[in-house]
Amino acid sequence: MALADRYRMERHDVVSRQAADSLACVADAPSMARGACPSLSVPMVTGDGLLVRLRPTTPGLTVAQFRALAETTANHGNGLIEITARGNLQLRGMTADSMAGLAADIDRAGIVPESGVAIEVPPLSGLDPLEVADARDLAIRLRREIAALDSQPVLAPKLTIIIDGGGRLVLDAMSADIRLKATRADSGSIVWSLSIGGTAQTAKILASLSTEQSVTTVIELLKTLAHIGPNARGRDLDAASLRAGFPSRQDRTFGAVSQHLSPIGIHRLGDKNLVLGLRPSFGQIHARDILDFLDIAEAAGANEIRTAPEHSLLVLGLDGRAAQDIQLMAAKHGFRTRADDPSNHIDVCSGAGACASAFYPTKLAAADVLDKAPDLLDGSLAVHLSGCRKGCAHPGKAAITIVGAPTGYGIVVNGSALSEPMAYIGKQELKSVLARMNRLVRNNKGAGESAEDCLTRLGADAVVTALRQG
Ligand code: SF4
Repeated sequence: MALADRYRMERHDVVSRQAADSLACVADAPSMARGACPSLSVPMVTGDGLLVRLRPTTPGLTVAQFRALAETTANHGNGLIEITARGNLQLRGMTADSMAGLAADIDRAGIVPESGVAIEVPPLSGLDPLEVADARDLAIRLRREIAALDSQPVLAPKLTIIIDGGGRLVLDAMSADIRLKATRADSGSIVWSLSIGGTAQTAKILASLSTEQSVTTVIELLKTLAHIGPNARGRDLDAASLRAGFPSRQDRTFGAVSQHLSPIGIHRLGDKNLVLGLRPSFGQIHARDILDFLDIAEAAGANEIRTAPEHSLLVLGLDGRAAQDIQLMAAKHGFRTRADDPSNHIDVCSGAGACASAFYPTKLAAADVLDKAPDLLDGSLAVHLSGCRKGCAHPGKAAITIVGAPTGYGIVVNGSALSEPMAYIGKQELKSVLARMNRLVRNNKGAGESAEDCLTRLGADAVVTALRQG
């Protein structure tokens, strides 16, 4: 059944725009279970209308498909397109009445949204000569095996499997319920390191498996999770008893964490391929800017766009000279083009003006962070500016979160937008508080110490004291 038809059938479940306007946040929407992901058929209610999160089944989109996506978002939504921290696309500002048109346009463009359990692979899979394995092959196989199960396991809506074939842009920093990471064994063969919960650094490593064993073991883990309950996550599995069922491994590569490389910048993939990584300013771009940019990029040879972690997108098909030219042009069309741009470390939601739930204009506040608190933006920590407690731009913990409140701002240290703020400040105090936090880091940072290490060493009490000064 076409998505548009499916949407029409399910449309009675979607709240009306009028109802949406009166809802403060998505989690309250009757159309979605708490914690569920906003798909095309079940969009999420936010302060600026309905939001759809989209992960196409293909590794990337053609320029024509990306153009169609931008056009339909402008026609049926408010034109705002986001790339999430995990590299998913988000289209914003639709209404219950406009959703069928959006779904029809996406169908027509040949974009097939992924459904079922989320299986994420590195954005350069299949292109990167440095990868150990093309993770897409195992992902396809696993998907097929899950679909072939007699009874489909009922899994937590946000349950995620990462299959990481290695290479330049690995997914180590992203959390997963189940992670398979390709390594090269001492014998030269490919083995998959299996772990559960957390990032690659914090996950509990269980075993080292062949491709065949990986498929059967992950299927068993999914069945176990379904048996525990519909909200069970990787962290709920008993790592010790699972580990006991596998032979222990001593390879030096077993469970190793790769060095982080930003997707932003020009990446040379062997002699032939080159990829230009860009980040929409604060993770969000308007359809008209995307459309202008696509025209220029396509004329220069771009033929595919892939979204990537860290709110970025990758432009494929350019040669070296064209990549440099397009990189310069991108800066004029709402993109950040440098990996060391301080604004990459500020996560900003739509904010007042775009979202009815927002208590403050987050993008203006981001300019204040850049101006008043540059020492916080050394790349070691994230500053999260959230218009309300929903925390759309950064659902997890951030070192510093500034949450909109009716009377001003709540300051959360090492927590999420939902955490209890350590202090509240008035509407006029943001700039001076940012300047005080900046002074705290600047005056106390040891040689070679990062902003994050400095704040961790000083402790939350020191931050609160600094906030209360003045
Ligand atoms: S976090 Fe921001 S975008 Fe999300 S609902 Fe709140 S104000 Fe709107």
